[in-house]
Amino acid sequence: MSRLFVTNDDTICALATPPGSSAIAVIRVSGADAFAVMKEIFFPRNKDFDPDKVPGHTIHFGMIKDGDDVLDEVLLSIFRKPHSYTGEDSIEISCHGSPYIQERILHLLIRHGIRQAQRGEFTLRAFRNGKFDLSQAEAVADLVAANSSSSHQLAISQMRGGYSEKIRELRKKLIHFASLIELELDFSEEDVEFANRTELDDLLREMKAEITRLIESFAHGNVLKSGIPVAIIGKPNTGKSTLLNAILNEEKAIVSDIPGTTRDAIEDTIVLEGIAFRFVDTAGLRYSEDRIESMGIERTFEKIRQSRIILYLFDVSENSCETVLNDLDAFRNEMIEKIGLDEWESKTLIIIGNKIDKLVEIPRHFRDFVEMKCLFVSAKRKENLAMISDSLLEAVKADHPDDSIMVSNTRHYEAFTRTLAALDRVMSGFAGNVPTDLITIDLRDALHNIGEVTGEVTTEEILQNIFGSFCIGK
Ligand code: GDP
Repeated sequence: MSRLFVTNDDTICALATPPGSSAIAVIRVSGADAFAVMKEIFFPRNKDFDPDKVPGHTIHFGMIKDGDDVLDEVLLSIFRKPHSYTGEDSIEISCHGSPYIQERILHLLIRHGIRQAQRGEFTLRAFRNGKFDLSQAEAVADLVAANSSSSHQLAISQMRGGYSEKIRELRKKLIHFASLIELELDFSEEDVEFANRTELDDLLREMKAEITRLIESFAHGNVLKSGIPVAIIGKPNTGKSTLLNAILNEEKAIVSDIPGTTRDAIEDTIVLEGIAFRFVDTAGLRYSEDRIESMGIERTFEKIRQSRIILYLFDVSENSCETVLNDLDAFRNEMIEKIGLDEWESKTLIIIGNKIDKLVEIPRHFRDFVEMKCLFVSAKRKENLAMISDSLLEAVKADHPDDSIMVSNTRHYEAFTRTLAALDRVMSGFAGNVPTDLITIDLRDALHNIGEVTGEVTTEEILQNIFGSFCIGK
């Protein structure tokens, strides 16, 4: 298998702006030879320009030439190490955004011994040069992909340090205790205790509380990032696809090119007050030859399991109140049986009576539904759809009362979960008088796992996973 990362000191280059035509394109060059190559290909307008002395954070106008051939007039930005994104000497060439010019300049650089960068290689170098820790590097990818104000907010907060600082500090304290305990092992004959057990216990409790809070925040952080999953459920012909289209047309998502997201997923997202809501499994609704004939089929369960919010639709013009209530009861019971009461109750059910336009007025017996906070709408005439938006927002706002720091990254979530398990073993080890040498194994395990979040412990595999998902030029 070819390795993704060549971890050498080559000077690298890549287009930092999207491929294709644009007003301006930016080509990044980073590494020890960045300034040497600049001398070869860049011809400044200002004759006083001295490539050896030009200060960082300055911009210069000039030509890029391939031999006698003028390729473009460009602006060149200079960054001297360590004050650059990567921490290395870097230049950025802002050229005219024709694909032809971009190619010619990149080829010119490559002919001068500069290597084409791999995915995420600029950010990997920034990480290796201590510009930021791993969780901040990951936040850069999230920031580029952010498509709503909440996902943007999350990424910014993580990029600026998020919980890394706190985690690093707790880890440092734990390392201190771990080393004291390991020292005790060297003196095991003498039965001494270097590590104050009460202080250690306090620290373990503090860490557990902090990590538990972060783990719990994941459920919310993760959905905020990818969009709160919403399912539309109901019998055939109740108007599910009509409703979906009506909602999507009213509130189109602000769409950017989100890597790793299919076109369909973006098209099925709406953004309300900066929070993205993603309608799950809408293919069956859009192209509804595959109609859901009974409520009890596997697909419905799967859909519900994936969602945070369920829009349950019925047709007011066709059903008696009793039928609706019976159906709803049957549906609820089946769900609880399938997914369990806890999971069911963690979801918000919004009951919607559709097709009110077919009635002169809502029949009296349906008034009983008011207590169930049932919404009455007409998907076809787009009546009362704002009530649905309000209910969606209300459901989510209840989830997350404060705006404290959240975990939105699956890798961190998993590392925290493993850390917590190890800390639990350490604590029960102390409580149960387990021999100290066994406890140190769990302590090391906890330190290892928590260190993976910030990158104090890294493996090539982790780096590949993270940086391999970046785009080239990032
Ligand atoms: P689905 O099977 O649940 O996806 O239902 P559809 O969205 O395909 O709708 C079934 C039929 O009901 C279509 O003929 C729609 O035009 C109609 N319909 C949907 N919503 C309304 C509504 O609010 N009022 C009326 N009068 N008809 C509706």
